[in-house]
This record gives sequence, C-alpha cells and structure tokens, in this order.
Amino acid sequence: MRSPAALDRADPLARFRAEFHLPPGKIYLDGNSLGLLSQRAETHLNRIVNEWRTLGIEGWTDANPPWVGLSESIAANLAPLVGALPAEVAVTGSTTGNLHQLLATFFTPDSPRNVILADELNFPSDIHALKSHLTQRGLDPAKHLRLVRSRDGLTLQIDDLAAAFTDDVQLAMFSAVQFKSGQLLDLAALTRAAHKRGVMIGFDCSHSIGAVPHELSNDGVDFAFWCSYKYLNAGPGAVGGIYLNQRHHARAPGLAGWWGVRRDQRFAMSLDHAPSPDASALQIGTPHLLSLAPLQGSLELFAEAGGIVPLRQKSLELTDYLMTLVESELTGFGFTLANPHLAHERGGHIALRHPEAWRICQALKIAGVVPDFRTPDLIRLAPAPLYTSFADCAAAIAKLREIMHAKTYEIFSETRAAVT
Ligand SMILES: *Cc1c(COP(=O)(O)O)cnc(C)c1O
Repeated sequence: MRSPAALDRADPLARFRAEFHLPPGKIYLDGNSLGLLSQRAETHLNRIVNEWRTLGIEGWTDANPPWVGLSESIAANLAPLVGALPAEVAVTGSTTGNLHQLLATFFTPDSPRNVILADELNFPSDIHALKSHLTQRGLDPAKHLRLVRSRDGLTLQIDDLAAAFTDDVQLAMFSAVQFKSGQLLDLAALTRAAHKRGVMIGFDCSHSIGAVPHELSNDGVDFAFWCSYKYLNAGPGAVGGIYLNQRHHARAPGLAGWWGVRRDQRFAMSLDHAPSPDASALQIGTPHLLSLAPLQGSLELFAEAGGIVPLRQKSLELTDYLMTLVESELTGFGFTLANPHLAHERGGHIALRHPEAWRICQALKIAGVVPDFRTPDLIRLAPAPLYTSFADCAAAIAKLREIMHAKTYEIFSETRAAVT
C-alpha cells in the first residue's frame, strides 16, 4: 500500500485543505455532522455583515450582489450538485421545516391512497414530521404510517422497499444515505418502482449532498430536501434546500408565504398569492441571509474543485483507505464494519461497530480525533473530500489502535449519557 504522504501528494484536490480552518491539533472526522468553516464561507458571511453595517435596508437592493436575489442565485449554483435544473432548487428553510413544506404540498390522502411509506432507519425528525401530517389530517399514524423494516438494523433492502409500494400508499420518503450505516440507496430504481405503482417519492439528501452525486431530474424524483451544514460546510443551522421536479411547478405550495410569490410581484403586496413558477414557490418568508451567505462561499469551492464527481471520487478513495486500515490495523479488537463495502452502496462515511463504542469515542476525542458516536454502538468516521487528507485517516486509525491496545477507553465511566 502506498504511504499516506504519497497518496496526499497524488491527490488533485489536496490544495483545498488550505482553504479551511482546521481545528488546531485535531483530526476532524465529523464533517457529516458539522462541516468545517472555510475562509471562503467566512468571507461571504463577513461581506453580508459589512453590507448590513454600511447599507442597512438598502442592502436588499444595493449590495453587491443585491440580497433580494441571493437565495435564487445560490440555488442555481447548488443545482449541479443534485443533478437539478436551477428552477428546480430552492435554498430555503431548515431540513425538517422543508419536509413539512413538502408534505403540506404533496401529501394529498384520499381513499384508497392514504398511507405514507418510510423506513425504520429514517432520521427521527423526519418521522416526527410525517406523523404530524397524518395527525393533522385526522389519520392515525399507527395505521397510516408504514415503516419498512431493516433486516439487520443497519441497511435497507431495495426489494423490501419496492414491495411496500402498495395501492394504499400515496407518498414515500426515504433517506438517500442512511445516517448510521452510510448505506446509499438507488434513487433511480426506487423512483421507477414507486412511479410504476402510482406512488409519489421524495428523498432526504442531508447525508449525501456534497459527498455523493445525485441525478434527481434524470431519476424523475418528485421532491427532495437537505441540510447545508454537513458536507456542504455552510455552518451550524445553515439554510437548507428543496428540490421540486419541474413537472410539479404548477402545484400550489402547501404552506404559502410572500417569498413564494413570483419575483416580479413579490413586492406588489397583493393579498392574492401568485406562486413562483418554479421551486422558489416553496419559500415562505424572508431569507436568512446570515446563514445563507456562507453557503455561497462554500459552493465556490465545490465549483473550483470541479464539481461533485471528483469529490465523490476522492471520498470513495478516503473511505476505501479507512476500511483497508481498519482491516489491517484493528483486527482482534472487536470492531466490525457496519457500512456497505461496495462503492455504489456507500455514502461519505464509514461506521465501526463496537460494544464499547461510546467509551472509545471519548478516548478518541482526548487523543485529538473527532469522531461521531451514534447510539448504541456505532463510531462514524467521515473524511470530507475537500479538507481531509489520507494522512489524517492513517493518523486517526493509528490513534484508535493505540487506544485499543492500551485499553485507555476503560478510564471512562461505563454509564453513557442518555442523550448524546
Ligand atoms: C442532519 C439530518 C437532518 C437534520 O434536520 P434539521 O432540521 O436540519 O435539524 C435531517 N435528516 C437527516 C437524514 C439528517 O442527516
């Protein structure tokens, strides 16, 4: 195997690491929970702050570029990451808020189709949202929310999902990448299967956007949504996004607000809602400029890196490298790899399963490695292709080996916080 230094020297994307603020003395492998700040994101954030300071209200029209069109121009820059037309993307709201908007827009229960299909591995917040839409329409979630089971508690079988598209299902929603195991679903195949059975289908791309290419338009997906603070590195709670397939652009937004009004009529202040003829119809209120600005800088870096395809290539090389190191360095310590091994089935992180996962994560943090624990027994390691090096991966696994060898994790209390 080539040395990590040789791999880094051969990496065409290595120069982007210098664009980021890396936490001093740490190996950061938690970019799938919160991506790091880049200088570019910081510059754009500071620009908005300065414009606010000097222009006040006139920033909406006189800033460079004017704030008023910022969410639309950022949406156009983001569209290639998910394989969408610019008009099919809105950069707005939060992940869960956007799911609420999409359900308000797409969930139209009617006899006999009055079931929402999801899966038991889905992100809890998404399930909360699905249940609340059923309850709001007087439908009992116990009967009208159907969750496809996972056979191994970590992954989903495409056949199990496809078999669940029965005639009473109106809408299906899955995560493109499972947040625990990192399993990547085949969006094209699922969309075909859903549409064949007359089911609307949408995807949560929070764990895939910025790490995995999507072809939402080509795949014919009805809708999708995501956050921008993981692999997109746009900052804590950054503005999220929505994909709305163009065949749905005449659909009335379920939750209407003045930023969903056509741009040329938004400031006419009419009490009649004339929705935008595109995904921005799903915007509700004034854009959150301060948590939008960093995304603009971050997307510049994605464009300069050549887009999502070379980033995915590097991401796969990094996770491959990590898996190889786990196999060569950590045998006999009780770890199993819980993520799918095949490239087309895995997202941007690997997941190590160990009964002592929580205590091992505490020891890793003390050793200067930032991992991510997911209850009850998973350690997630996410190398971010823009800023993680092969040397980082090698050093992290070496630290993990030391911890296991010396059993230093045993100094931590076995009782783990209920909420982590
Ligand atoms: C991170 C994440 C979310 C987060 O939702 P917020 O509304 O931004 O808190 C939702 N779904 C998935 C799959 C995620 O990974």
